Amino acid sequence: MAKFRKIGVLTSGGDAPGMNAAIRAVTRKALSEGIEVVGINEGYSGLINGDLRPLRSRDVSNIITRGGTMLYSSRCPEFATPEGMAKAIKTCEENQIDAVIALGGDGTFRGATDLTNHGIPSIGIPCTIDNDISATEYTIGFDTAMNTVLNMVGALRETCESHARCNIIEVMGRDSGMIALYAGISSGAVAIAIPEVPFDEAYAISRFQHARDCGKRGMIGVFAEGVSLDREHKYSEVFGRKLEEQTGIETKFARLGHIVRGGSPTLRDRLTATQMGANAVSCLLEGKSNVVMCVHEGRITTADINYALVLDRMYKGRLKDGDLDRFSPDAIAEMKSECAYKQAKMERLYRLSFDIGV
Ligand code: ADP
Repeated sequence: MAKFRKIGVLTSGGDAPGMNAAIRAVTRKALSEGIEVVGINEGYSGLINGDLRPLRSRDVSNIITRGGTMLYSSRCPEFATPEGMAKAIKTCEENQIDAVIALGGDGTFRGATDLTNHGIPSIGIPCTIDNDISATEYTIGFDTAMNTVLNMVGALRETCESHARCNIIEVMGRDSGMIALYAGISSGAVAIAIPEVPFDEAYAISRFQHARDCGKRGMIGVFAEGVSLDREHKYSEVFGRKLEEQTGIETKFARLGHIVRGGSPTLRDRLTATQMGANAVSCLLEGKSNVVMCVHEGRITTADINYALVLDRMYKGRLKDGDLDRFSPDAIAEMKSECAYKQAKMERLYRLSFDIGV
């Protein structure tokens, strides 16, 4: 069993509901193993600047119910530079931090792997509302975000029904349409648009028209922000205008934006965060590092961070030169099959959304 006297925990990149529950689990599990815990404020910038606070059991009381992150988050480009890394390592040495547990998304895991390479064992916990980390079936925050979208869409549905209107609702998801797809299906959207599957605009408009012809008053479309034409021209807004022009159906537009990132975490997010947080500490004690906690076939497990990052790039069509060089043909075949499985699942669900008549 590996020996650790003190570990650090940080939250970095985009926040997600359930991060606090994971901080609490890491802290309490470590303390129960006789390991001291320090919270690193504002992600990797806290490691660079030595902005730390000791975490005792009472310091993480009453946070399991809260969204956001008590350790705060930030984007810290300096961490990716040799100077930034040198300062971070100095902070670890001066404060006897033997290992780091980093909560966040793929950028955060790149930082964690750099730390491991510089002699500080690190473990990642996937926290992102988008559920877009390919190595894991689930990321902390996704369930809460979907339920927030359901509540918002539900409210808009009611007013659409009163006024016989349509509302096109844009939700977060730059690279991933998971929130739009799952929440769109579950809120009875007439049309859904996601980056992973080509969008048939004419067909979508014809569905709204057909629904209205059949007597449907209130109608909803749920679009992921990732289907946008570019940063300035949001396709969801463009689509709403086209729909109104071509059908005469009064159409409003709503961008839910960051509201979907907040809120008290659901049971699933609290439970997953607690399991992953405690397991991350156990993994460190077992001598594992440079891994990310995952859900695989419903069970909590780990994947090598480098494998997880490359798998992600493969799924998103962003492989870099040399990415696959360090993997065996079997590992590459496994990655390809994971990507195909994931894409097929998205396409199947997308078809389902249209199979349900209007
Ligand atoms: P997320 O973790 O949600 O994907 P970011 O992509 O913003 O969010 O990454 C969070 C932080 O992780 C960055 O601000 C930076 O400090 C660190 N990071 C990102 N990419 C790298 C990298 N290539 N090397 C080292 N650190 C990185």
